[in-house]
Amino acid sequence: MSNNNYKILVVEDDRSVSSMLKTMLDVSPYECISAENCCQGLMMLSSHMPDLVILDLGLPDKDGMEFIRTARRGNTAPILVLSARSTETDKVEALDLGANDYITKPFSPAELMARIRAALRAGRRNAADESALSGSFELHDLAIHYAARQVTVGGQPVHLTQTEYNILVLLAEHAGKLLTYAAMHSAIWGEADPGGIKKLQVNMANLRKKLGIRPGDNRYIVNELGVGYRMPLEEE
Ligand code: CA
Repeated sequence: MSNNNYKILVVEDDRSVSSMLKTMLDVSPYECISAENCCQGLMMLSSHMPDLVILDLGLPDKDGMEFIRTARRGNTAPILVLSARSTETDKVEALDLGANDYITKPFSPAELMARIRAALRAGRRNAADESALSGSFELHDLAIHYAARQVTVGGQPVHLTQTEYNILVLLAEHAGKLLTYAAMHSAIWGEADPGGIKKLQVNMANLRKKLGIRPGDNRYIVNELGVGYRMPLEEE
């Protein structure tokens, strides 16, 4: 393996899916290794130290949620959940346990590759740069200047409330990662409260309006309905 390759661990019992993934991923800059069940996956996670995990939730020995729970006790490799399950509760649970993102079967190769790039980049940002807040963040024509606490779109200042600014910074800090409503709520307000989702949605609506985001426009903020919000990366 070349040192520059990203190693991707695929944990999936369905051989047709895992061999399809292997074919798609065994091209530069990726190297694909695979496990057929949860236990084998966890062993390979610690022995091979992959840069990213693609995880099926329906595994023969244990639930994929168990993989996430165990992996997150010490491993920070981004986990991309691959699942036929499409209920919102499953997605929310997987994300709240520490998965980075999910992709629902059937998916297109292009979609999968975009999610992989995003997850790898998000993982690298978190690992490498604790001082991200000292500079600025840019996405298309949106810019956040952290020191001045100023936000501009196309060079024009946008006047945000403290809460709206905090929401935007939270998303920017985790760009490429899908954040659940509950995770965002507790990061912003530090409390769990059943009415909190509504409060988040109201602030988000105002924030989107101020940034000039029209319905259906996913340039700065993607709303995964019923699950959470994600700031995309430039190349998505
Ligand atoms: Ca399966």
